[in-house]
This record gives sequence, structure tokens and C-alpha cells, in this order.
Amino acid sequence: MKTTLLLGAHVSTAGGLITAIEEGTALNCTAIQIFTKNNRQWSYSTFSELDAATFKEAQKNSAIKIVVSHASYLINIGSPNLDVYQKSLHALAAELQRCHQLKIPFLVLHPGAFVAGTKDEAITQIAKSLDHVLEHNPGTTKILLENMAGQGTTIGSTFEELGAIYEQCKNKSKIGFCFDTCHACAAGYNLVSESAYNNVFAEFDRILSLKNLQVFHLNDSKKPCGSHLDRHEAIGKGALGLAVFKRIMNDKRFSHISKIIETPRTTLDDHAENLNVLRQLIAQQK
Ligand SMILES: [Zn+2]
Ligand SMILES: [Zn+2]
Repeated sequence: MKTTLLLGAHVSTAGGLITAIEEGTALNCTAIQIFTKNNRQWSYSTFSELDAATFKEAQKNSAIKIVVSHASYLINIGSPNLDVYQKSLHALAAELQRCHQLKIPFLVLHPGAFVAGTKDEAITQIAKSLDHVLEHNPGTTKILLENMAGQGTTIGSTFEELGAIYEQCKNKSKIGFCFDTCHACAAGYNLVSESAYNNVFAEFDRILSLKNLQVFHLNDSKKPCGSHLDRHEAIGKGALGLAVFKRIMNDKRFSHISKIIETPRTTLDDHAENLNVLRQLIAQQK
């Protein structure tokens, strides 16, 4: 049986949840990613049952098979600051509850930053916090730890760091990973040549297991490999180039994995163009 391509973009919910389905449909998406709240504010409101039902119904009537949620950028469950930590724990639990309500299978999370503490302490705190939140909010949503660019004291720019969190978690069945191509490049994972690409995913498989990979963030990188700077660029226009994306789009190991672009967007046409570039990379493969 042919697997359905799960391809789409991070879309807006600024006009309400339904905007995401409308944008996703306009872009011919089969997968979309959303924020379920304003990602730069702590405050949030819950959805009414009617809002949630309307969203689920609209998704059912669309071509969108998978909705991925991205957690707020403010959340840092690795923070040594008690106030930030407690806010983060509550916010993550609320993120998970909103995913349950909207039947969203995956919640992408930036693992955290150790700030003034130590990396090892933060890794242990992150694992414990994930267990705590998952145990108190049972449901089917998986939390996907995203690989990071490695700016400042962020954790998760290496597969080893992500693996250390995973190893310390008790609720492993509810944890997976999201692979961001821009972040990998910035963190120093060279994906450009075919052999380098093969090595990176072999390493990912050895440390994290490819079966735990659930979502790709497909973004080119404005900054060179190893810069530790997180600057997304249009597909094929940055340090990665089209060949990397052609490999991912045609890699049989990844055919069932949701592929989401988070490329710079001024208008919706920018997303349409980037998605078309990716679709054409598949069409080229005969
Ligand atoms: Zn992210
Ligand atoms: Zn990024």
C-alpha cells in the first residue's frame, strides 16, 4: 500500500483554531503544525467544547491527516529558577490538555536551557518533569523533544543530550523526537553530502532510534553549519541546499513521518512556494 505523503506547514491560529484548517487547506497540506495558544505569553484560555468539536470536524472534512502542536517558546522545564520552572510545568500540562482536547497526537517541545545551573542537573530535571506531566495528564498525545541549534545554554543540540533525557524518562512510550534540519545544521550535523547525511541518520538511529522519530521540521539554514544560530531559510536557499531535502523527501525510512516547514513567511504564498519546491523534489525521483 502506498503511504500518504504527510506534508505541510506551520500555520496560523491568529483568527481562531479554524484558521489553521483553512490555511492548511489553501496550501494543500496533509499535515499542519499549530500553536494552541499565543506562544510568547504565559497566559492562555481553554477552548470551549464547541471550539474543539468544530476544529475536529473541520479537520475531518479536510485533507489534513495530522495536526502537530508546537509548545510555547517560554516553557523551560530545565530552568534552575523556581518561578520559571513552576510556570513551565503548569504551561506544559496545559499544552498537553489542549492537545488531548483537540485529539492532537504530537506536542513538539524544546527540551529547555540550563541557564545558570549545570547541564546534567537540567537534564535530570527535564526527564522528571516530563514524567510528572505525563503521569498527571494521561492521554495519547506524545511529547516530541526537538533537536536544537545550540544557542546559549539550550539543551538538545546533540543526539546524546536528547538521549540522556529519554533514558532517564520512565514514560518512554509517550516520548518521541522531532528533527529540525536547520537546527541540526546549526548544531554542526553536516547533512550536505550523501555520506554525511547517511552518517547523521545512522547516528540518530543508534542513539535515539529512528522508530522514535515522528516529525520533521524542514527548514534551510541562513547560517553555516556549526554556527549554533537558529535562523530559518527558504528550502534550498541556505546552507543545506536542495539535495538534502530531495534525500529526505525520497527516503523510504521517512515516508510515514510528518514533514512540516517553518520557513520565513511574509504571506501565505511563501509557504505555498516552499511546499511546491518540496513536492517537485519527489516528482523528480523516478
Ligand atoms: Zn521548535
Ligand atoms: Zn528554529
